[in-house]
Amino acid sequence: MRVEVMRGILGSNKAAADANRKFWDDNRILALDFMGSPGSGKTSVFEGTIAELTKRGRTLKVIEGDVASDNDARRIEQAGAEAFQINTGGACHLHAAMVSRAMEQLDLDGVQIILIENVGNLVCPTAFLLGAHFRILVASVPEGDDKPEKYPVAFREADGIILNKIDLLPHLPFDAGRFWDLCDQLNAEAPQFAISCTTGEGIDTLCDFIERHLAELAG
Ligand code: MG
Ligand code: ZN
Repeated sequence: MRVEVMRGILGSNKAAADANRKFWDDNRILALDFMGSPGSGKTSVFEGTIAELTKRGRTLKVIEGDVASDNDARRIEQAGAEAFQINTGGACHLHAAMVSRAMEQLDLDGVQIILIENVGNLVCPTAFLLGAHFRILVASVPEGDDKPEKYPVAFREADGIILNKIDLLPHLPFDAGRFWDLCDQLNAEAPQFAISCTTGEGIDTLCDFIERHLAELAG
């Protein structure tokens, strides 16, 4: 019974995700879904990415998913991009239909890139596709170098892996070699980004990746 219910929910979510993807493809908009634990620095990565991509002449908007509050949307607006805040009211992941409704609220004229911040969680966002072209996993140094071992599905299914807060490496017992080895074992294809939002290191490489795929979508 429970299994059937889950199958039904995931099935209707998949249909909404497919519709989102079609809308983005038809409008040549590149969409990226970022997942990571609470406090991994997803919003900070967005702030740095918005600053860099805006400098490069790109137009982007943001969909923020949180259980409660519009704190992150306000930070994004402060960083210079329009943001639509979704409050899930308790749900620990975004559904594709929530993203469709958010898209209807945003003025998408001239928009090239949509960044989606999923609810802080490394479990169910992996099952609930939103239709984004890329799902980027954000892990961070204070969380420990064994994160890939503990959440293998999230790492295996990611289309890109960010290790954030690398400026803290000298201060914490985090073995970056071990972390990336575990990532290679689970998912050798996913591009790897080492980032510090404090120093700005690595943000340009992430933006290069985004621009490269934007060009492919437009081509
Ligand atoms: Mg956030
Ligand atoms: Zn959930």
